[in-house]
Amino acid sequence: MAGRNSTSVIPAPDRAPNSWGLGDGQAIPWDYAPAPEARDIVTLKDRYGLFINGRFVPATGGDTFVSIDPATEQPLAAIARATPVDVDKAVRAARRAQRRSWGQLSGRERAKYLFRISRILQERSREFAVLESMDSGKPIKESRDVDVPLAASHFWYYAGWADKLDYAFPGRVARPLGVAAQIIPWNFPLLMLAWKIAPALAAGNTVVLKPASTTPLSALLFAEVCVQADLPPGTVNIITGPGEIGMALATHRDVDKVAFTGSTEIGKKIGRGVAGTDKALTLELGGKAANIVFDDAPLDQAIEGIVNGIYFNQGEVCCAGSRLLVQESIAETVIDKLKDRLSTIRVGDPLDKNTDVGAINSKAQLEKITELVASGVAEGADLYQPACDLPERGYFFRPTLFTNVAQSHRIAREEIFGPVLSVLTFRTPDEAVEKANNTAYGLSAGIWTDKGSRILEMASRMKAGVVWANTFNRFDPTSPFGGYKESGFGREGGMHGLHAYVRLEDR
Ligand code: NDP
Repeated sequence: MAGRNSTSVIPAPDRAPNSWGLGDGQAIPWDYAPAPEARDIVTLKDRYGLFINGRFVPATGGDTFVSIDPATEQPLAAIARATPVDVDKAVRAARRAQRRSWGQLSGRERAKYLFRISRILQERSREFAVLESMDSGKPIKESRDVDVPLAASHFWYYAGWADKLDYAFPGRVARPLGVAAQIIPWNFPLLMLAWKIAPALAAGNTVVLKPASTTPLSALLFAEVCVQADLPPGTVNIITGPGEIGMALATHRDVDKVAFTGSTEIGKKIGRGVAGTDKALTLELGGKAANIVFDDAPLDQAIEGIVNGIYFNQGEVCCAGSRLLVQESIAETVIDKLKDRLSTIRVGDPLDKNTDVGAINSKAQLEKITELVASGVAEGADLYQPACDLPERGYFFRPTLFTNVAQSHRIAREEIFGPVLSVLTFRTPDEAVEKANNTAYGLSAGIWTDKGSRILEMASRMKAGVVWANTFNRFDPTSPFGGYKESGFGREGGMHGLHAYVRLEDR
């Protein structure tokens, strides 16, 4: 039976064990043996300071807050709670380093540091993966195979650009912007840090970064990497604290560039906060992506893509394929196959190597998902959740599938940021385009079809920054990522990501 923290809005049936049928009604019930990753590679401190000018220092006033493990609800560590005075100290340190040390290095020298950071991330990858899963709730197989390798490859990729800026922007001289204020969310803490810090440093900027309050630990471990890599003090500064500290950082008068990833609501606030100043701004905000499946799609491959699109990282992904648009003629088959596949998804301990869906990042996020799922039921959509055990403690939510969804339903319009898929149908490509683009967001989309020409035609009609064809949630440091409309503006990754951190001058 479901544990006491079951958030299901329908009673969960007893869990049917997996079984090998032997014919004549006989079956051998089986399940995966636990395969927990050891935690002892991580040395947690009781208390973490702010990382300013190459040193860990307590916050002015000495206040702290606690980061907890969302899978156990147990505290992990006390984290310094920065004040505006600390923000000022961090920005000053970054400015000094930009003028005197980091900003004076040649591109070739900067590259050496970035390669070194990338190597250290690889060497310490298990430590980062375990810590990330403990602090965020994401399954170890994702932090180990996706977050950490991608973070290392971002540093590697931008290391390659550091001494080649002239080739990136032919005929122009690329100058650093100066001090970058970077605010990142909790869904991919280390990866978002890498997306922000690597291009900034490659271009000769220095940074002050604020991680999310529920997931500060990998950024603080990264601060240790900066020391290990002998990065000039002040080049990277990490300050921890609540949202208002993020705002104090973004609006600090000596910051030249603001990069934010998070909710559209806060993105708009930051936009208002820096309006009328000469700060450069990039915003990577929410999404409500359509994943479109045509009747000629390779169905089994599409089912895996749909599952990866929405249940990867508990659905806490800005570009998640949260709206499935399936051609009416195959809708029944796709929904049956999806239900089948959902019954094999393993929800539980993020540190278990067999886990597919870990813990929701915070109690607040779990409540938001629960409320939106309840609204789906109340508005008349049909809910399906596979029978599965949820752990006794922690913030867990069953993989959820809604059918009979109308475009007006909240679950079809609002970003849920949880493992919840809304299925809608279409008859013609035009109807698919109309429905896919019927959203305030414009971050990503997916297209599943056998026909190359249809992929090109559909991709050109999608109002989304990233369009995947016969795949979903593929990330690569060389490829730009970002959205438009309420999903924000500016690109991260690739040469476009570099562009966001330079001022181009005529030769
Ligand atoms: P937020 O946008 O509030 O948080 C993202 C980052 O911004 C965090 O570092 C946060 O700090 C910081 N922040 C919060 N308030 C301010 C502020 N006023 N000024 C400057 N920085 C601020 O997202 P939530 O964590 O509240 O999540 C809410 C919803 O946002 C989710 O349910 C999801 O729908 C969406 N979201 C989207 C993301 C995306 O990648 N598109 C990522 C995260 C959330 P702190 O953690 O201290 O509050």
